[in-house]
Amino acid sequence: KDLKKWFPAKKSPFSREKVFIKAVDGVSFTLNEGETLGVVGESGCGKSTMGRSVLRLLEPTGGQVIFNGVDYTALKDKELRDSRKDLQIIFQDPYASLDPRMTIGDIIAEPLDIQLKLPAKERMQRVLETMERAGLNTRFVNRYPHEFSGGQRQRIGIARAIVLNPKIMVCDEPVSALDVSIQAQVINLLMDLQKEMGMAYIFISHDLSVIKHISDRVAVMYLGHLVEIADKKDIYAHPMHPYTVALLSAIPVPDRKHKKEKIVLEGDLPSPANPPSGCVFHTRCYKAQDICKTEVPELKDCGNGHCCACHFPE
Ligand code: SF4
Ligand code: MG
Repeated sequence: KDLKKWFPAKKSPFSREKVFIKAVDGVSFTLNEGETLGVVGESGCGKSTMGRSVLRLLEPTGGQVIFNGVDYTALKDKELRDSRKDLQIIFQDPYASLDPRMTIGDIIAEPLDIQLKLPAKERMQRVLETMERAGLNTRFVNRYPHEFSGGQRQRIGIARAIVLNPKIMVCDEPVSALDVSIQAQVINLLMDLQKEMGMAYIFISHDLSVIKHISDRVAVMYLGHLVEIADKKDIYAHPMHPYTVALLSAIPVPDRKHKKEKIVLEGDLPSPANPPSGCVFHTRCYKAQDICKTEVPELKDCGNGHCCACHFPE
């Protein structure tokens, strides 16, 4: 609800004046039990910061995260630690997120050790079960991360994230660093695990075909704002926000007859330290009118839960 993450920064290297980089600037959405919400947008639009702020890996500057009726953003110390088991994350770079000095078994057991402190036998049992679930050979439990390929390392990261049976998992570009041939395996694993365990995913990616494959609903972010959110079918068939229209126009279509005009966005992504007034997209929008420069468009339901933040939706 109105989630914000602003980072303080200096205006210039020699200046004393402070500015705020508004990486996430008032994002609201609902995540339903067991669903996958795909979050898409160019790099620098605030997707990862949003995902980390939901989990409080970054403390939000404002807004709330309501989880099962409880304001997760207001929890302190022990309550927060207890709730953390329900919210987990997997990262883009599986290698950087695994401690090279720890065995796979200890890496996967780490969340257990923090939360449950199980007796050794049960702990090992749980680790081996989780490795199997993640498609890892249990014989490798005492090996180290460097002995594994990128895809297997991502399976280790997934095993660590699911060992506590979380309710929500933020998947931050989990396949972007992997070979295309391996991407599908990891995505299918995530989809199977969801069926088995009922987790909800916030699946962050800049890859529209990956998002289309895995999501139930899709949210589009631009410069720290959520500009459109809808069921996957609706958003891919009838995008309403000009930014979404432009993004989707860039996907190659195999069928020549239905070839769409590719919309090229003019200019660069503006700085989140100095975002445009009114609609943050107005500097690059092909439909912009005068009102767009002054009035912030609200995210409005245009029917069937298809929400769009634009004065002139398609
Ligand atoms: Fe474009 Fe105006 Fe809509 Fe913003 S509000 S997306 S500038 S038409
Ligand atoms: Mg990112």
